[in-house]
Amino acid sequence: METVGHLIDGKSVIENTATIPLINPATGICESELAMASAEQTRRAIEAASKAYPAWRATPPSKRAQVMFRFKSLLEGHVTEVSDLIGREHGKIPHDAKGEVQRGIENIEFACFAPEILKGEFSKNVGPGIDSWSEFQPLGVVAGITPFNFPVMVPLWMYPLAIVCGNTFVLKPSEKDPSAALYVAQLAHEAGLPNGVLNVVNGGKEVVDVLLTDPTIKAVSFVGSTPVAEAVYSKATNEGKRCQALGGAKNHAIVMPDADLPNVVKALTGAAFGSSGERCMAISVAVAVGHQTATDLVANLKTEMSRLKVGGPQNTNNDFGPLISAEHKEKVINFIESAEAEGAKLVVDGRSPELSAEDRGFFLGGTLIDKVEPAMTCYRKEIFGPVLCVVHVDSLEEAMKLISEHEYGNGVCLFTRDGESARYFSDNVDAGMVGINVPLPVPVSYHSFGGWKRSLFGDLSAYGPDGVRFYTKRKTITQRWPTLSTMDKTSFSFPSN
Ligand code: NAD
Repeated sequence: METVGHLIDGKSVIENTATIPLINPATGICESELAMASAEQTRRAIEAASKAYPAWRATPPSKRAQVMFRFKSLLEGHVTEVSDLIGREHGKIPHDAKGEVQRGIENIEFACFAPEILKGEFSKNVGPGIDSWSEFQPLGVVAGITPFNFPVMVPLWMYPLAIVCGNTFVLKPSEKDPSAALYVAQLAHEAGLPNGVLNVVNGGKEVVDVLLTDPTIKAVSFVGSTPVAEAVYSKATNEGKRCQALGGAKNHAIVMPDADLPNVVKALTGAAFGSSGERCMAISVAVAVGHQTATDLVANLKTEMSRLKVGGPQNTNNDFGPLISAEHKEKVINFIESAEAEGAKLVVDGRSPELSAEDRGFFLGGTLIDKVEPAMTCYRKEIFGPVLCVVHVDSLEEAMKLISEHEYGNGVCLFTRDGESARYFSDNVDAGMVGINVPLPVPVSYHSFGGWKRSLFGDLSAYGPDGVRFYTKRKTITQRWPTLSTMDKTSFSFPSN
């Protein structure tokens, strides 16, 4: 059986450590195993990154960007191989996996702008004969810890930008589907990344604990569930590290009475059930404004959902694949049961989906739950499965109050034809990423990605302009080349113009 290892100092490493099985979630079969790095191996990766840092920091940004250009081009040539690996360990269907890789490539594209984004700021003659400028210097060795649901895209939110800013990097991918991230990191080396600049250490909490406590690590980017994000943020910042920790979500879509219902139904079906609902931007709550809107929405969703096809990535006609594990499937089923027990109405029950013979893994069909109340467990908690809850309200204000009162504030969407409501909503809604008739408003690579409230711990969002600020520290230099005429007397007053 193949063992998946690590990439340390430019070399593939598989040593005699504990392993865990890697299970194909579509078949339920263990197809390979993962070597879990020890604390000592993790420290070796940090040392390799530390050793590589001085030369990489001194490499001109244009040269660093040239590696990114080659990396982008190499990855574009290997999209199918990478998508197949995602399919094997995550279960994502091919066009969804390719979409994920494409969004990752866009982050490499942004990193190719390194000379432009690191230009700094310059002011001439801030005082007589004095010039001043701010430059953005790298931090040193930084770490990334990533979740299972976007095994390629989320690592690519982090290291291309961190590296192109002059840092060196240690990545710890999810232990549930690590192979695609490892493969992509190998492509980065083929593209000319010097040894040690990017290291991949596979494993679990033991690896994370070293990354959070080793003083060589200057900053940590984390993406995952809220309880772990909060713990990681607290530990990293207590250790004096810069940290951004992106957590879970409960994304609401408000459907106004004037919305274009056929389009809403298609958009919601894709956004709620795509990737089996295992997206941090998945719509998991539809808020219908007005009784008639709710009745029409539920009836039309039910019809649309009767066409959904669930199954493994080998069949390109499938709309979405399995959940990541048997335990996670069980957790989602418990949420559906709790909804029924707490008085909600199960309109479409996905617990026994129609499957082909080879699909013996962890599948659930699309599930629609109507008449959900804010106090119910299925409303309060992140389900992270193909489950859409429908809540009824009487006004846009009431819908926005629901969003304000929820602990998460990642993505939201408003479906309407009315510009005034749309403007009021985007101005005032309590969430970090807003869609107007766009159900998955995932920012493009030259903006930044981040939620509010308990969806993000830290001050800076991921990638884009916030990513540049996160991976650099500002230094401001004030310079005068002395001449006799300006240096002839001592000044004791505070510098001013
Ligand atoms: P997770 O929190 O279980 O794991 C994320 C990472 O943390 C993994 O690398 C894992 O090995 C590590 N980890 C897990 N438990 C740990 C512990 N106790 N101590 C230290 N490290 C630990 O998340 P997941 O199940 O892989 O991913 C799904 C979650 O991620 C969902 O909640 C989803 O909303 C969230 N997510 C958020 C975003 C975002 O941008 N906000 C994006 C993708 C996923």
